This record gives sequence, structure tokens and C-alpha cells, in this order.
Amino acid sequence: MATCEVCGNDYWMAFEVRTVSGDVHNFDCFECAIQKMAPICEHCQVKIVGHGVEVSGRFFCCAHCARAVEGTQGAEIRDAIGARPA
Ligand SMILES: [Zn+2]
Ligand SMILES: [Zn+2]
Repeated sequence: MATCEVCGNDYWMAFEVRTVSGDVHNFDCFECAIQKMAPICEHCQVKIVGHGVEVSGRFFCCAHCARAVEGTQGAEIRDAIGARPA
């Protein structure tokens, strides 16, 4: 058992999240893990819960936000290409 480092809940199904730097964090639910760990879009400030996009080491929630902030390389980012339903 572990105590969630965000809300303090001591929960039997708490889980660990290990980062690339080797740090270990304990949470009782995904919502608390997102609150603590998710990167924040540098354009619109939403928590990036899905893949998001990374441009020159900066994180964005979507291609639009990347293009809005990162002029040259951001211009290469696309959410989708090709055919789509009319
Ligand atoms: Zn929690
Ligand atoms: Zn955004």
C-alpha cells in the first residue's frame, strides 16, 4: 500500500509511476497522476494527457498549438494529413 502524493489517500490499489530520470511517484488514481505528471501545453495551458506533440523540447497538446508558438519547426507539425470524410 502507498499514499498518493497528490491527495494523500492511502489506498490498497495505489500504483507507482517511474520517470525516465528514475524518480518514482505514488498515486491512488490516474487523475492524481495527471495532476502531478502531465506536461502542460505551452500555448493553451491544458494538461497533455494523450501523446501531444514535442517541438524543439517544448510540449504542446496539438499541432495547432505547436504552430502558434514554434514558428519554423512548428510549421511542420500536422494533426492529420490526407483524405478525410467530407
Ligand atoms: Zn490521489
Ligand atoms: Zn494547446
